[in-house]
Amino acid sequence: MVDEDRKRPHAIFFPYPLQGHVIPAVHFATKLASAGFTITFVNTHFVHHQISKSGADGRGGDDIFTASRKAGLDIRYETISDGFPLGFDRSLNHDQFWEGALHVLPAHVEEFVERKVSSKEKVSVLIADTFFVWPSTVAKKYNLLYVSFWTEPALVLTIYYHLHLLRSHGHFGSQDNRTDTIDYIPGVRAVEPTDLMSYLQPSCKDTSSICHRIIDKAFDDVKRADFIIINTVRELEEETISALHQTQPTYAIGPIFPTGFIDSPVATSMWPESNCTQWLDSKPPGSVLYVSFGSYAHASKPAIHEIARGLLQSGVNFIWVVRPDIVSSDDPDPLPVGFEQKAREEGRGLVVVWCSQNKVLSHCAVGGFLTHCGWNSILESIWCGVPLLCFPLYTDQFTNRKLTVDDWKVGINLCDGDWVIRGEEVSKKIDRLMRGETAEDLRVKIKKVKKVLEDAWAAGGSSETGFRQFVEDIEVKIN
Ligand code: UDP
Repeated sequence: MVDEDRKRPHAIFFPYPLQGHVIPAVHFATKLASAGFTITFVNTHFVHHQISKSGADGRGGDDIFTASRKAGLDIRYETISDGFPLGFDRSLNHDQFWEGALHVLPAHVEEFVERKVSSKEKVSVLIADTFFVWPSTVAKKYNLLYVSFWTEPALVLTIYYHLHLLRSHGHFGSQDNRTDTIDYIPGVRAVEPTDLMSYLQPSCKDTSSICHRIIDKAFDDVKRADFIIINTVRELEEETISALHQTQPTYAIGPIFPTGFIDSPVATSMWPESNCTQWLDSKPPGSVLYVSFGSYAHASKPAIHEIARGLLQSGVNFIWVVRPDIVSSDDPDPLPVGFEQKAREEGRGLVVVWCSQNKVLSHCAVGGFLTHCGWNSILESIWCGVPLLCFPLYTDQFTNRKLTVDDWKVGINLCDGDWVIRGEEVSKKIDRLMRGETAEDLRVKIKKVKKVLEDAWAAGGSSETGFRQFVEDIEVKIN
C-alpha cells in the first residue's frame, strides 16, 4: 500500500471527568495528534465549563481545540452531559456522581459515538479511561479499536486486574480479610494489604459500594482492550509491566506532561490559578514547602488543623493549596481561625485555592512537597527533583506512597504506623524532609529517578520507543 492510501487513525478520546485524569489525557491526545492522529476529544459539559471559567481571566492557555489549531494539529473538541446540571455539587454528592458514571454517562457516550461513526469522519479508534465501565461494549458495537488509558501506576492497574486473586486468597471481600503479605499477583513481588488502594484495604468492610461496583466492571472491561497505555516509566515498574504485557499489549509511555512542562499551551485547570511566582522569587532556594492534596481527596478537619500547627511550628516557608472543599463543601472554613493571617503577616506562608503546580514545583525556592500522593503529583515532583512528604488519603494514593517511599526512596511518610496525625510530628517530618542528612539523601536519590524519567522520553528511550511502537501498531491494525 502506498503511503497516501494509508488511513490516518481517527480516535474518539473520553477522559474520566476528574481533574487528575483530564490533565494527562489532554497531553496524551496532543502527542497522538503530533504523531498524525485525528483526535475527537470529549469532555463533559461540567469539566468544560470549569476549565473555561478558570481560564476566563486569561491565565492557563487556550482550550484544547484552539491550542491544537495554533499548533497545526487535528484535534476536534466536543462535550457531552454527565447527566447532572452544571450547578450540581459533584464533590458533596459524590456517590450520586458515581452512580451517574455507572448508569447515565454510558447512554450519552453511546449516542455520541453512534453519531460520529455514522458521520463521514471515519472514526477507527476509541480511547477511554480505564475507570469507565462501557468501552469494550461500545468499541465492539461500532467496530472500533479499543485503547484503555490508565493514568495511575502499573502496580495499581495490576492489583485491580487481579482482584479475583485477592478474593480467592482471602485478602479481599470477606468480613475477616487476611492481613499478611500478598505475594501471588503476577508481576508484583510483595505488597502489604495496608498498601492496597483504599477500596481494597482490610479496613474497608463495605465491598458493595458504588465504587466497588465500578471497579468490578471497569477492570473486567479492560481485559477486552486491544491496547493498554500507562502513564508510567518501564524502568520504574519493569516486572509489573512485563507481566501485564504477557496478557495484553501494554505500553508504558510516561511521564505524560505538557510540552515545555510549565508553559502548557492548553488550559487544563478546573479552578483559576493563583500566581505564586513573585512570592516564591522572594524566598531563598530550597526553603519553601509546597503543600497540596490534589483536586479530589478530602482530609478530616482535625488533620488539617494538625498540619497547620506543624507548619507554623516548623518555621518553614510554605505555599498551601487549600481547596474550599478540602474537608467538605459543607465546611468552607477548614483552616484554624487566624492561621492564614498569621502566616501572611510573618511573610512565611501563602494559602491559595489552586495554582499552576508545575510552575511552583519548578521554582528553585521549593525544596519539598507535602502531598496526598496523587500519581500526577508524584511524577511532577520527581521531574522537578523535589522530595516528597507523603500523606495518602484515598484510592491509589496508598499504593503510590509505597512506590515513592519504600521502593524508590524519594520520599518519607508524614505519619508512622497508625496514620494519626500530630502537629509536633508534622513539624519534625518537615524538618527531616527539608534539612540535614535525610534531606540530602532524598535529594541524591530523587536525582537518579528524575534521570530515569528524562531518559524515558529522550530519543531511543523506553517511553519514546513505546509510544512510536503504539502508533505503528494502531496503524497496522486499521490499515
Ligand atoms: N494541580 C494543579 N494545581 C493545584 C493542585 C494540583 O495544577 O493547585 C494539578 C497537579 O499538577 C496534577 C493534578 O492537578 O497534575 C492532580 O493530579 P493528582 O494525580 O496528583 O491528584 P488527584 O487530583 O487526581 O487526586
